[in-house]
Amino acid sequence: MKKRTDITIETERTLFIVNPERIVSWCGSCRDEVKMATVDGAAALAGISSLDIFRMIEEKRLHYIETPARSLLVCLNSLFGNLQESLSTQGEQL
Ligand SMILES: [Zn+2]
Repeated sequence: MKKRTDITIETERTLFIVNPERIVSWCGSCRDEVKMATVDGAAALAGISSLDIFRMIEEKRLHYIETPARSLLVCLNSLFGNLQESLSTQGEQL
């Protein structure tokens, strides 16, 4: 039996923008600091279209955060976790 403990974590968002292609931020779903990318960046990295990204967000298959500038950053952990279900070679360059 799995014992479920809900832990409330202060989701203080620390954004480290090293360069636009390498964004590391806190992902509340992963509960870890993960690499993030813009929708377009994530689509390019995964070799899929931006529309696919939005679709995956809608299906709650992708984690994302909204930046103070109201743009969307996609959690690459969840992105490549999803892709690895069907493809297995795309995450190499990370
Ligand atoms: Zn995540």
